[in-house]
Amino acid sequence: MNNYNNHFARLDEAHFPPFLPNTVWLVGAGPGAPGLLSLLGYYALGQADIIIHDALVNSQILKMANPDAKLIYAGKRGGKPSTDQGDICKTMIANANEGKRVLRLKGGDPFMFGRGGEECLALADAGIKFRLVPGISAGIGGLAYAGIPLTMRQTNHSAIFLTGHDESGTMPSGVDWQKIASASPVIVMFMAVKHLGSITKKLLQAGRKPDEMLAIVSNASLPEQTIVESSLGGVEKLLEENEIATPAIVIVGPVNSYRKTIDWFSPEKEPELFRGELGE
Ligand code: SAH
Repeated sequence: MNNYNNHFARLDEAHFPPFLPNTVWLVGAGPGAPGLLSLLGYYALGQADIIIHDALVNSQILKMANPDAKLIYAGKRGGKPSTDQGDICKTMIANANEGKRVLRLKGGDPFMFGRGGEECLALADAGIKFRLVPGISAGIGGLAYAGIPLTMRQTNHSAIFLTGHDESGTMPSGVDWQKIASASPVIVMFMAVKHLGSITKKLLQAGRKPDEMLAIVSNASLPEQTIVESSLGGVEKLLEENEIATPAIVIVGPVNSYRKTIDWFSPEKEPELFRGELGE
């Protein structure tokens, strides 16, 4: 076995772009497990003066920050008091204008239902330079940790990513369920637990079959990860019988059938990790 004790020292030789004062970096932190942060994200955490982070960012990742950096919580969780989007942008802009290196740290990928685009527009409007550091989205990495392949040649050549919330916190009114239902065998839904009963009804009315498989992956990639499964038609019963923890991602379609074989991340398979004795 190699000795990897000083392995991270090699990062110092990597040619990362300089994190300049007066700029903002929007960094995706991945779905949760600290090891799923990118190297560029890790580097940025060590350089930043100010870190404005979401509720979904793991505290283990925040511990990787430069100890002198100021951490600002800008959480937004459905139903709970949340930080105003305008205030977040103002804080980023004000700090960048003061000459700070501002890191905006978001769960998953900043551009996947993460308002990263809106924040870039606000920064561009204010004339602030910014850089994007993509992250592993829960809609991809979360499936991997659940043992559900997003695509399989045998089942689907496409997948749809959908949000179960719109700006007002209700089901997205602009969604054409008929088109969504017929467009792809696999549908991956973010922020969908609250309205899951009505969403599945819409999908069934639009022609999806009641015996199709559905899985809900909560706290993907973390020791708290849990998964419940049902048929599309059995969702109401599932919701009655289970308290679904959030954040959770919902997957509809035939790829769910591979989980029973591919499932590799579970309390049975990695007991130390699930008891909190190991990091990831
Ligand atoms: N930008 C993020 C998504 C932000 S929206 C990304 O790319 O992953 C927030 C939603 O993401 C949650 O409501 C949930 O649907 C999903 N999510 C984020 N982290 C998750 C996790 N660890 N496990 C399951 N779902 C998660």
